[in-house]
Amino acid sequence: MTSASVAPTNAAVRPHLPSIDRVLAWPPLVALAEAYGRALVLEAAREELAAWREAGRADGARVDIEAGIAARVIARVQPSLRPVFNLTGTVLHTNLGRAPLPAQAIAAMMRVAAGASNLEFDLTTGKRGDRDDHVEALLRKLTGAEAATVVNNNAAALMLVLNTLARRREVIVSRGELIEIGGAFRLPDIMVQAGCRLREVGTTNRTHLRDHAEAIGPRTGLMLKVHTSNYRIDGFTAAADERALGDLCRERGVPFVIDLGSGALCDLTRFGLPHEPTPAEALAAGADLVTFSGDKLLGGPQAGIIVGRADLIAKLKKNPFKRALRCDKLTLAALGAVLQLYGDPDRLVAQVPTLRLLARPAVQIEAVALRMQPIVAAWAGERARVTVQPVQSQIGSGALPIDMLPSHALQFAPPGPKRLSGRALDQLAAGLRNLAVPVIGRIGDGALWLDLRCLEDEGGFAALFGPAASAMVATAP
Ligand SMILES: *Cc1c(COP(=O)(O)O)cnc(C)c1O
Repeated sequence: MTSASVAPTNAAVRPHLPSIDRVLAWPPLVALAEAYGRALVLEAAREELAAWREAGRADGARVDIEAGIAARVIARVQPSLRPVFNLTGTVLHTNLGRAPLPAQAIAAMMRVAAGASNLEFDLTTGKRGDRDDHVEALLRKLTGAEAATVVNNNAAALMLVLNTLARRREVIVSRGELIEIGGAFRLPDIMVQAGCRLREVGTTNRTHLRDHAEAIGPRTGLMLKVHTSNYRIDGFTAAADERALGDLCRERGVPFVIDLGSGALCDLTRFGLPHEPTPAEALAAGADLVTFSGDKLLGGPQAGIIVGRADLIAKLKKNPFKRALRCDKLTLAALGAVLQLYGDPDRLVAQVPTLRLLARPAVQIEAVALRMQPIVAAWAGERARVTVQPVQSQIGSGALPIDMLPSHALQFAPPGPKRLSGRALDQLAAGLRNLAVPVIGRIGDGALWLDLRCLEDEGGFAALFGPAASAMVATAP
């Protein structure tokens, strides 16, 4: 900024910034003050005028000052946590909040959010109830388990199981299953925090039933099998059969726990997806307890679900950790509503958004891409050429990492023969993040990609690019 860019010829017309009082009387700012409070607008106006002054600019046009103040007010009132368009191609994206909830789950949360509820109150006896009661019967029915309990997430579920059944004892795990699931979730670390000693058996690629059998001794707390959800070992591999492990554990009187991770509650092959083991299958194979997430393939709220033997579940519930890891009423309301939907498998895809997005046919996604292409191309302008390209989406959150889902994306490629620089791609991605509802894509192979598998609100998306763009979209089916 140059302070002397304006060269007034006459001191009497030298530009000067308006006073705070004058600025606050401008009608758009009066309206802002009515909407968000005068104190906030006053503070934003002071900051904006100070910024112009510091830049040595006394010639600010009224529209620019107004816009600057409005932007400061909007930035202040914008909640930190807000919706985005997940066009990364990863359906269950942990950083973007994982499963979108079914309408029934949202309605259930709203019903109990505003006031009191029978969260831990038995309406028949008038006595104290158990918050797990709101979901336990459904979980028992859907998994065939004797009993069930719910905590904050699957990491917490594992922590509770380990701490309750194997504190100061050994937990036997195959070397091939000592996983890191991202962030700070590493199985060996969880073991230490839960007070257990890790007893690794077998090798990275091959572990046999006899390896497990030889490790069982007087110090054994439990046998753990972890669904290696985010990677797969191919080639010369072996793992003990679950049923054989179950038999071994029963014979030797050692609890057998399976951490399923994703925990699809129904057979996914009916939706054209690859098979993912279900809690019912794990229990049938001989697991005494099975843990899985609520917000992965189940398509519900963040939760850690534990199902299995009634005596073991009762022990978990007596551990003071259960109190520290318990779910709130909103989670239980949402989870109960989602579990209810599983009672009608024929309507699951229509009602559970996660399953609907995963099962979405590629031709349908291509049609969305073709409708959105002109809008996004107009936005990109000279900066990039936007075309529709076939791509592969991922389920995400560790589920089925290798199996990809055929999809279509908008690709931002260079307008000319040269590659788009990393900087140019970053700038395009930042531009999309700056829209009224941030649009999150993926950069790879020298291009920026918007995978449209998860784009259902075409009207809302088009509106981000202006009224002209909105008018280009025929009403979505
Ligand atoms: C995702 C996952 C976890 C952690 O579950 P959260 O619900 O994210 O805490 C644990 N184990 C496995 C195998 C997983 O896939």
